[in-house]
Amino acid sequence: MPKASAVSAQSDQPDTDSRPDIADHRTPAHKARQGLSYPFGDQVPSGTTAIDVADRIKWVRIPLPWSLDHINVYLVDEGTRGWTLIDTGSFGERGRAAWEALEAGLLDGRPIWRIIATHMHPDHLGLAGWLAERHGSILVMTLGEYLMASHLWMGGAATMPDSDVQFLLKNGLPGDYEPMVRAAGYDHYQKGVSKPPEQFERIEDGSVLTIGGMRWRVVIGRGHSPEHACLECLDEPLFIAGDQVLPEITSNVSVYAREPMGNPLAHWIASLDRMRQISGNPLVLPAHGPVFHGLHARLERLIDGHIDKLERLHAACQEKPRSAVSAFGALYRRKITGFEFFMALGEAVAHVHALESLDLLSREDDGGVYRFSATGQFDRGAILPAILALPGVALKPLSPA
Ligand SMILES: [Zn+2]
Repeated sequence: MPKASAVSAQSDQPDTDSRPDIADHRTPAHKARQGLSYPFGDQVPSGTTAIDVADRIKWVRIPLPWSLDHINVYLVDEGTRGWTLIDTGSFGERGRAAWEALEAGLLDGRPIWRIIATHMHPDHLGLAGWLAERHGSILVMTLGEYLMASHLWMGGAATMPDSDVQFLLKNGLPGDYEPMVRAAGYDHYQKGVSKPPEQFERIEDGSVLTIGGMRWRVVIGRGHSPEHACLECLDEPLFIAGDQVLPEITSNVSVYAREPMGNPLAHWIASLDRMRQISGNPLVLPAHGPVFHGLHARLERLIDGHIDKLERLHAACQEKPRSAVSAFGALYRRKITGFEFFMALGEAVAHVHALESLDLLSREDDGGVYRFSATGQFDRGAILPAILALPGVALKPLSPA
């Protein structure tokens, strides 16, 4: 049962769920079978210590005040200019204290010259405004992420908009939860993010940046957030993945009330599929979990995992019409509690909408609640091509590196 304190403005929360990939937490041998390897073993940075993951690139961890208790950020040595920082941590006492300690030690008296935010979620962008003010940093991000961050930050309110409440109810939230949901407020993004800088420099899919003396190409991912920037190094086998490819947990892909008919899962799967075009076996620098090798194995597993869920959802909706909430049992292997309920709801709607867009579910309005019935035959091999054929979903191929 969700708690009032757990209700959020949806996209303003830690962006991962730990539901489906339970197997990934097993033994090293099990991980190896999944095609992943961890060149630093069990070593992870802590406090003011960093791990040098490549020439001029330091892996640092900033604590987060959530069940997902850390974010990896990467500091790139830019010589006399100072540092380029990839992602920041969320705004709050723990994050600020971590940075004050890093400023006193690791940064070596040099400023954070540039902040590159992979996307607008609080754990990634939350301290950008605060750090930029302290260091005079430039903020670099995509337009989609900057605008969404600005929209959410300025849109904070004491009460949840009626449209958000209606979205939850239509997708199966039990009606007796409504007063609690309304009481939960709508200012969580502002709490997790210091005021975003007034100016930014835009990067786009295919932009090439020089970071630490090397060329890095921006590879956009969609579905987890609007225009998430990954960075593929063109000179060394390195890939800064943000939340697009995580080794041990799957990123949350949710439909939100502001775009209630959105189809983010189609964008997410199409983005992952295009990343199969990245050549070689780069060292992946993710935002959560350990640095790893095995990008391509991980991409396969992530795509397969979503197709598995779509198949289970289709089968469950053959038994009887279901709302997104009543499909939880088909999608999630363990009981959903607390704040997870809202992330699970957004993700369930994302899977429902993906199947509906492929004409594999049909919708009926049952007294104000959407219920979905299976139509057609589920053919695993046909899902990815059908998703890529949806209008606006496929991304242009990556040019050779
Ligand atoms: Zn995220």
